[in-house]
Amino acid sequence: MIQIANLTKSFGRNQVLKGIDLTVNKGEVVAILGPSGSGKTTLLRCVNYLEKPSDGAITIDNFRVDCKKVSKKEIHLLRQRTAMVFQQYNLFRHKTALENVMEGLLIVKKLSKQEARKISVELLERVGLGGKLDAYPSQLSGGQQQRVGIARALALNPDVILFDEPTSALDPELVGEVLAVIRKIAREGITMIIVTHEMTFAQEVASHVVFMDEGVIVEEGKPNELFNRPKEERTKQFLSRIR
Ligand code: ADP
Repeated sequence: MIQIANLTKSFGRNQVLKGIDLTVNKGEVVAILGPSGSGKTTLLRCVNYLEKPSDGAITIDNFRVDCKKVSKKEIHLLRQRTAMVFQQYNLFRHKTALENVMEGLLIVKKLSKQEARKISVELLERVGLGGKLDAYPSQLSGGQQQRVGIARALALNPDVILFDEPTSALDPELVGEVLAVIRKIAREGITMIIVTHEMTFAQEVASHVVFMDEGVIVEEGKPNELFNRPKEERTKQFLSRIR
């Protein structure tokens, strides 16, 4: 179980997260929705410590990080338990698909080359890229690059995968293949938090939906409730704008 408690984040005088409390149970898929600039990406980046939260705590099972007095070792451990999938894929350009997935296994998990290769081949097959092991990112479509990004996140065997608008950089015809892979791993019971603008996808795949605006969680609930019977005015307005 993951617990985010009273998480705040300011950039200078701009308070972007104003005390976020969120609990994510094992195997749950949480979709985070909200207007641009509401703090969704910053929240994910704080959970992975790509951004340093100003205050609050992040707990995964019995491992608790108090953001006011965190050590380097704790940050390292937190990053191992929370893998990120980025909007712009963030692959190493000079490494092949296989080498991109192997990297974390060699550096973070300290596996032998042989073990890392075996696991990485299996993962790339799982995301439908068994035939592209030796391709460089420049030789892959955006959808294929993002699937390498997903395989790389899976390789760390994290407690949760954080998806930051995983399809927003893709041409429309490539969105489907990436959503299909996310849908498949969601069914396998992997815990996920997904920031997305794909409402149909969120409604179908998420077990829990969170609506954020101006750095706070305005409303959260089951997809059916939030999409069909939103309680808060701000949620109603947001949904009516995008549908
Ligand atoms: P969302 O993902 O909901 O679109 P973001 O988390 O990207 O929102 O951004 C929330 C706010 O934080 C915005 O006002 C944005 O300008 C600001 N922000 C995000 N990252 C930084 C940064 N590195 N430095 C300064 N301000 C930032």
